[in-house]
Amino acid sequence: MSYEVFARKYRPQTFDDLVGQTHVSRTLKNAVAQNRLAHAYLFVGPRGVGKTSTARILAKSLNCIKGPTITPCGVCDNCREIAGGNSLDVIEIDGASNNSVEDVRQLRENVRYAPAKGRYKIYLIDEVHMLSPAAFNALLKTLEEPPEHVKFIFATTEPQKVLATILSRCQRFDLHRIPANLIAEHLQFIAKKEKITLEPAAAHSIARGAEGGLRDAESMLDQLVAFCGEKITQSDVLNVFGFTSEQTVSDLTGRMLRGETPEAIGLLHEQCEAGKDMMRLMGDLIAYLRDLLVFKAKPDALNEDVHPEVQKSLAAHTELISTDRLLELIDQFAVAEGRMKWAPNKKLHFEVAIIKAIQSLGQATLDEVIAKLGELRGDGSASPPASAHVAASKPEAPRMRPGAAGAAPRPKPTPQTVGVAAPGYSKTHVEDKARMVDPELDSEKIWHAVLGKIPPQKAFVRNSASAAHVLGIDGRNFKLGFAPGDKAMMDILGTQANRKFVETLLHEITGNDWVLKLTVNEELVPKHTAAADDSPNNFKNEPLIKEAIELFNARVRT
Ligand SMILES: [Zn+2]
Repeated sequence: MSYEVFARKYRPQTFDDLVGQTHVSRTLKNAVAQNRLAHAYLFVGPRGVGKTSTARILAKSLNCIKGPTITPCGVCDNCREIAGGNSLDVIEIDGASNNSVEDVRQLRENVRYAPAKGRYKIYLIDEVHMLSPAAFNALLKTLEEPPEHVKFIFATTEPQKVLATILSRCQRFDLHRIPANLIAEHLQFIAKKEKITLEPAAAHSIARGAEGGLRDAESMLDQLVAFCGEKITQSDVLNVFGFTSEQTVSDLTGRMLRGETPEAIGLLHEQCEAGKDMMRLMGDLIAYLRDLLVFKAKPDALNEDVHPEVQKSLAAHTELISTDRLLELIDQFAVAEGRMKWAPNKKLHFEVAIIKAIQSLGQATLDEVIAKLGELRGDGSASPPASAHVAASKPEAPRMRPGAAGAAPRPKPTPQTVGVAAPGYSKTHVEDKARMVDPELDSEKIWHAVLGKIPPQKAFVRNSASAAHVLGIDGRNFKLGFAPGDKAMMDILGTQANRKFVETLLHEITGNDWVLKLTVNEELVPKHTAAADDSPNNFKNEPLIKEAIELFNARVRT
């Protein structure tokens, strides 16, 4: 007997066999049972989730010798012919290749004749959105007044491309991506029948890689059997398809959230050296962060999709980050992903994205990152600044300051900024908030209070903040000036994390939201002399910063 691929061999034969689409099969069963059938159906959904299978099952239900029935027998001529794709009464048309007006004209001619054997003549048009407009219009004429004995079943992955006039004449069903746990279960079902040993973790990795498509998962299992024989382990799956394990993605996230820069970068390097696909890993990381976001909002929402082990790590990681920060992180990585797509050196972009993420989480100071990265690369190009010992002593507790998570949404710097230059905030936003300002506010006093609240372990923020001259308040802007010699200080205060930290303090002190405005002013006298030697004056010349400035097309304001 010739080899049959799993997707075909295990194609669902009844409504109850359909995996993960109960909302569709239930409605269709009711329609058949109550004989309330529409003339045309449209099945919408991503590839490989069961659109064609559902269509064939519906066709069998209608034309089975015992039908119409919700449990087609599967053994009568009609059922067998439909399952085999050679029924004279079920005409399968591929919209992608039969889209000429001539084809549709033929269809219209053909429609007039009664079915050969079955009750109905059923037209099953796959990828219906690929039909040419002319073919669409010809089809529409038939759809408007279909003969009693005709049913249309359309399938499409892109419903927005289907003409509205066709859509309006169809009963539409949306088939969903299938939850990973259901796919894994189905793979185990196949494995059992085929006498294959499939590790549960392997089944889950396949399911995750298939991204909700059952057919893709089945094809992957086909390939794995060809490669590995009768025993399939998780590492087989990861190696054959270049996937990274969920555990690794979760570890990477954990290291970032705990501010463990060298460990996070180390893990990335390991994955890269093991030949893992960097784009895929980035996608997995974003997916994990997104899961984390969902988990924060509703822990049980992921029960069907996420392995219990991963749920445990999600639970642990939600403790480490606030929703606001998480949203920012997802944004940042999405931008990095877009950048990676066209970049020859994807690893470099990934590296920078991780460092930037950790930096923006406020868990590692810039000099610590530079020092550690220099160590890691072992090229000695990045010598640690003098104050590294202060910053490296201990990462701060995860950012969960009161007020930080619950604070009113503040304008976000554009992704283009690395926090080197102070970006222009949206003007309307600033004006919006201006009306709440008390004109009596004394900016000097406020700033004094801010300086008093910066903890000693935040040496960089302290030093740079104390180099600032208060220029006053303008609407919602809190304006600080720096002497030209203190520009490096301004750059440090202007990083996203530091800026945010200071803005939070301003909020705590005044109860208002502020936007920090930093400028260099020729007329100002350098304030910062005592602490200057303890700061990286060569800040801009650090290779990493140079790289970052180049990468992000940022600009150092002079
Ligand atoms: Zn039958």
